[in-house]
Amino acid sequence: MKKRFSSRELFELRNDIPVDMLIKDGLQIPSKISDGVFRFLCPICNEFQTSVNPATNLARCFRCERNFNTIDLVMSVRRSGFKESVLFLKHMPGKVSKQNSRQALNALAAGIGQPIPQGLK
Ligand SMILES: [Zn+2]
Repeated sequence: MKKRFSSRELFELRNDIPVDMLIKDGLQIPSKISDGVFRFLCPICNEFQTSVNPATNLARCFRCERNFNTIDLVMSVRRSGFKESVLFLKHMPGKVSKQNSRQALNALAAGIGQPIPQGLK
């Protein structure tokens, strides 16, 4: 059994799938917005003392004091092994890459407040 995943592949699965989308749509974990914070039912302790950090794309349970990346979440919720969880993420229906929207946003942000290029004056 030689099938391994490249670190790049794993990096992409951890970072390009928005963790809140995985919680809501991919794994269908009960979730809610309270006080403007996205919260989900922790698969370990079944409490809503949680939040997600879009900057790191990690989900956190304050009660368990645990961070979950996308792969950890799948393993915890589906009680599946690492390889199986990675395959689940790779083949998740409706998987949307965060990269496209983020690139578009970055391009937009870069255009704001920038001096007008010489040629266009
Ligand atoms: Zn917990």
